[in-house]
Amino acid sequence: MSLGCKKVPFLNLPTPLEYLPGVSRDLGINLYLKRDDLTGYGMGGNKLRKLEYFLFDAQQQGATMLLTVGGAQSNHGRLTAAVAAKYGLKCAIVAIDEYPGEVSSNILLDRIMGAEVILKEDDHQRSEMVQSHETAMAVKERYEAQGEKVYYIPMGGSNELGILGYYDCAQELTVQAAEMGISDSRVITAVGSMGTYMGLFCGLRDIQSPLSLTGVLIMPYEESVRAFAKDYFDRVKEGYGLEFDAEKSDFHIDEDYFYKGYNNSVPQVREAIYQMARKEAIILDPCYTGKAFNAICQMVRDRKIQQGETIIFIHTGGQPGINTPHHRIEFERELSDGIKIL
Ligand SMILES: *Cc1c(COP(=O)(O)O)cnc(C)c1O
Repeated sequence: MSLGCKKVPFLNLPTPLEYLPGVSRDLGINLYLKRDDLTGYGMGGNKLRKLEYFLFDAQQQGATMLLTVGGAQSNHGRLTAAVAAKYGLKCAIVAIDEYPGEVSSNILLDRIMGAEVILKEDDHQRSEMVQSHETAMAVKERYEAQGEKVYYIPMGGSNELGILGYYDCAQELTVQAAEMGISDSRVITAVGSMGTYMGLFCGLRDIQSPLSLTGVLIMPYEESVRAFAKDYFDRVKEGYGLEFDAEKSDFHIDEDYFYKGYNNSVPQVREAIYQMARKEAIILDPCYTGKAFNAICQMVRDRKIQQGETIIFIHTGGQPGINTPHHRIEFERELSDGIKIL
């Protein structure tokens, strides 16, 4: 099944699906990890699946430059910079944030890969979405005046085109799970700008996959997350002529584990990161995947995940985030007692 759009297939797919014996034993569940952190360029992550489609569209339009927006911590910005570098395009990243002076780990990587970074302090008057769009349009104008053809990708790459990468992944995962004899299971992913979740949702539904889906919200939404999902779904349905419907209640997105913020410092999330690292040698990040894995641990404790249940957790990447200053300070504080100076 395909929705009829083309992509530049630069990823080496399928990504591995691995059983995690140590963490499974700890939690009393069967936990598998979909290694979408192992997606090649620019240190990898989920945004590359979306970018295969954006790149094709940008090339079709004769773009000479990719422009996108996000927070200072944006993995999506980093991976846009990566794809631009690899395919000979210019790149600019607009970041609206609390810490205009903070050079996050991702911003450093954007610069290493040659992208321009435009930081703007959050004015707290208007939503980040509005401010970033406004700033991005001003940057776009500036480059167009210099003769560039600018291709704009919205925050997180989550528009109608941005669901396609994970629409494909839903099929990839269904086949892979069946081959491994784990078809009766639940897929869990972090939900940020929602393109990943919506792609999986539509892809799983469209092939009537036996896999179910739960999203873990990693930041507060300004409106009801289910209403947002329904609205996004309706746009996607109309855009691609999907033959199935969905109601608000069909979107399973758990809102209990984001600890009142986005990319905030949370001790329980660091504990989850240590557990995964010490049992499986897999590194999660403090913004998305660590939060989502902590949510899985809490959901087991809160009996939202049953003992013996099979879960497929999507590792969406994000590891550079451990080096972002406000996280790194906390890691160092907690871990320095194990660093011995002789
Ligand atoms: C962007 C991102 C997500 C969330 O994906 P959305 O499509 O924005 O919901 C999850 N994990 C990581 C590491 C990300 O960078």
